[in-house]
Amino acid sequence: MSFGAAYHEILPYTSESVKPKSEASDCKDHPGKSRHLYCQDCNVPICSLCLTANHKRHGAVELSEILGKTRSIVTEDLKELHRFEREYSMIVEDRDIKIKKYTEQSNQEKSSLKTIGQIWHDIIDKAIETIEHELADMVNEDLQILRVEKDKVQNLYQIIKGCIEQNEHILKEEKSLKMLEYKSIVEELRLVPSMRDVRPPKLTLPDVKKEEFIEKILSFQSSVHSTLPGFTISKTGDVTMVSTQMMMEEPVVLDVLPTKFKKIKGICCESTEKVWIYGDDEKIKQLDRSGSTLKCFSAATGNSQKDIAMNNDGNIAFSHKEETCIYLVNKTKIEKFVDMSGWIPYGLCFNSDGELLVCMRYDYTE
Ligand SMILES: [Zn+2]
Ligand SMILES: [Zn+2]
Repeated sequence: MSFGAAYHEILPYTSESVKPKSEASDCKDHPGKSRHLYCQDCNVPICSLCLTANHKRHGAVELSEILGKTRSIVTEDLKELHRFEREYSMIVEDRDIKIKKYTEQSNQEKSSLKTIGQIWHDIIDKAIETIEHELADMVNEDLQILRVEKDKVQNLYQIIKGCIEQNEHILKEEKSLKMLEYKSIVEELRLVPSMRDVRPPKLTLPDVKKEEFIEKILSFQSSVHSTLPGFTISKTGDVTMVSTQMMMEEPVVLDVLPTKFKKIKGICCESTEKVWIYGDDEKIKQLDRSGSTLKCFSAATGNSQKDIAMNNDGNIAFSHKEETCIYLVNKTKIEKFVDMSGWIPYGLCFNSDGELLVCMRYDYTE
């Protein structure tokens, strides 16, 4: 069988697709005989003579019977489909609401981001403005100092220029008695007065990476993706959740415990630290994560146990196919838990309510 043949193709309903090829009720191979039977092996209507010819030893039922059965299936299905229609339309509606809500919420976040951005812009603008003012005040003050100093020296410079002019003038008049009034200020000018030096202010840029800085003032939490539990719609229209516990998308290996068995028949986890295994040595063992045996018991002879499971009290149950029963291992003894009255138990499992689920067969064919 090809891989593709395992799938059914769902085609939209059209009257074309169900148009009968031939509604003639007479048998083509046996003219005059009506096809009132249905061959279950070939899935075609046949006549009674066909059973002795092409459809010899084939299983056949009355065509009316199969039509009646099919009609009741179609009728029942239709009822169910109407229920599904309601359920599915509710889900579609629900999804629509979800999309609308999601859009609203994400738009809200978008506008919040804009607001926060504006706030930070304002804060930074204000900080820059404040620094600008401080800077301007400082520059004014500094320039004032520098100008005063300059004025001071300029003043002395002017005095020197004045003295030069005066001295040159005195020297031009050879017999002037005015020379006697000359007072030298060279000694006073020999000492150039000390001055204050001022360097302009400088911006300090702390060594912060842009990404780190932005991360400190603004970041966002990614959207959360999870899988909602599916549910089944019963024949009466009741809805039951399939599972509320979500499976991990990727399995995680906690530990690898090597065993000497060729085959492990049963395994059940008591906790993340302890595991029970049942191997082909016919022993049921409790191991820790390092693989050391904590507890061990032999419970049956021969290859007659099939699976193990643990109940809510931490007791191990095992299936015994020869005795067609299930045993439970208590703290002190091993006792018969369920007599399967001829049914052969295989897989075992306790559900969360502590009820035992058993996979079983009546013999090797059923
Ligand atoms: Zn026929
Ligand atoms: Zn046939």
